[in-house]
Amino acid sequence: MTKSEELFERACRVIPGGVNSPVRAFGSVGQTPRVIASAHGAYMTDEDGNKYLDFVGSWGPMILGHDDSAVREAVIKACADGLSFGAATKREVEMAELICGSVPNVDMVRMVNSGTEAVMSAIRAARGYTGRDKIVKFMGCYHGHSDALLVQAGSGVMTAGIPDSAGVPQGCTKDTLSAIYNDLASVERLFEEFPDEIAAVIVEPVGANMGVVPPLGRHSKSSAASAASESLLADDNASFAEQADREMTEPGFLEGLRSLCTKYGAVLIFDEVITGFRLGFTGAQGYFGVDADLVTCGKIIGAGMPVGAYGGKREIMEQVAPVGPVYQAGTLSGNPVAMAAGLAQLSILKEQPEIYDELNKKGQWFFGSIKQIARETGAPVQVNSCGSLGCMFFTSEPVVDYASAKTSDTAKYAEYFRYMLSNHIYLAPSQFEAMFLSAAHTREELADVLELVRRYFALREKQH
Ligand SMILES: *Cc1c(COP(=O)(O)O)cnc(C)c1O
Repeated sequence: MTKSEELFERACRVIPGGVNSPVRAFGSVGQTPRVIASAHGAYMTDEDGNKYLDFVGSWGPMILGHDDSAVREAVIKACADGLSFGAATKREVEMAELICGSVPNVDMVRMVNSGTEAVMSAIRAARGYTGRDKIVKFMGCYHGHSDALLVQAGSGVMTAGIPDSAGVPQGCTKDTLSAIYNDLASVERLFEEFPDEIAAVIVEPVGANMGVVPPLGRHSKSSAASAASESLLADDNASFAEQADREMTEPGFLEGLRSLCTKYGAVLIFDEVITGFRLGFTGAQGYFGVDADLVTCGKIIGAGMPVGAYGGKREIMEQVAPVGPVYQAGTLSGNPVAMAAGLAQLSILKEQPEIYDELNKKGQWFFGSIKQIARETGAPVQVNSCGSLGCMFFTSEPVVDYASAKTSDTAKYAEYFRYMLSNHIYLAPSQFEAMFLSAAHTREELADVLELVRRYFALREKQH
């Protein structure tokens, strides 16, 4: 028995499923989780001393790679000043100034302790501001585990939410409406049915919790065009442009959400817990050129510490207590050690914008190359990507929403996952998660991974 297996067995006796978050379980890929002892740069090492090239990156925060020395030093320094005061600090002011100074349309921001909390609070603020109750979310988008957002949407567009989890009372989700990602008509229908009742539309500007599903539309086409001129692989993202041409004409999905929200007086919330400070320093708003009213952040802004934030237009944020009537609080919110970690990481990203250029180019090349390999070997897969986020779906159908994502053959993903793990590549233990590239992944390491992918498909070709 390996040390990982031994520890996992102990964990299962005292922690539900042996994990503190279900995404860490390896059940859907038929393995036991590797218990991680340490991580540096692009690599993680488990309790048995096995070293893996990591493509999870703590699910997004580690954009500079693990154990960045500047982040580590900032944390150690902050620890020496005391772990928490439950009072105002300079670091949280600096953090708020940094976020407001870089993310478009964020005049004010409130720090919280997780992405879940950020989204839950942003929705409350939007409801307080509009005096309306209903919210629209998209099937396949994840916004944390708060009651109102754990909604699955059955078939097609629903008018009333059905709880996706036991323990969520029907009442908590009755105001959650579900729409189809990349389908503006499904949102328009909801607005037509409830013109004065929808407080907010919340969206992942790049779907990254059903695998990776970029928003279709104008911007996809223009970014595909620039990709074609820049990239070695002229057809990288081209299928998205084709898809955009076929499925949708003007406006793009995000642009369309913007105009619907403006027309009906609803708040547009970009849940940027993954995309914030990943697509670029201005997040998805800057990347796609679409304005949101409220933005939620997490993951990268904490650099591995438990941090979330929600912010936006002044008139909405001034609804929040103690200025306004929308109550929201947190004993450890703006924790000085967490702020130190986040500030250190964000400062590096701000001072070195070339990190994003290289990261996004690297992503375009890497995911484009996987697509090329799939084409050459005839593997029936779809490769979706946006910047440093990407994923491979084991389906022959283009993936543009939750329904098409679900056509993926998860048994095939599991087989691929096991092959990669046995070759010391650590992928997400689920088909419906992203691969996260970091600044620490070198082109040489990625080229080795591409070689493995090629060998895998060649091998499969022989077997089947
Ligand atoms: C991870 C995630 C959340 C939840 O954040 P937690 O810190 O896990 O609570 C919310 N929204 C999106 C888009 C996420 O990816």
